[in-house]
Amino acid sequence: MAMPTCVKCGSYSFEKKEGTLKSSDSVICFVQCCKCGSVVGVMDPHDIGAELQLIKKKLGIL
Ligand SMILES: [Zn+2]
Repeated sequence: MAMPTCVKCGSYSFEKKEGTLKSSDSVICFVQCCKCGSVVGVMDPHDIGAELQLIKKKLGIL
């Protein structure tokens, strides 16, 4: 399977970085290259998936 690769520098490592957009105060979570900082994606900063797993665990669904 192919490795996720930064299109700018070829690095294989990425990290989450919180920031805001120029016209908004809302927090957004960027996925960026660890080496050059190029943004390769955007995620929900509240991590809804993790919150749903926690709720399922509390409800005894897991
Ligand atoms: Zn890069």
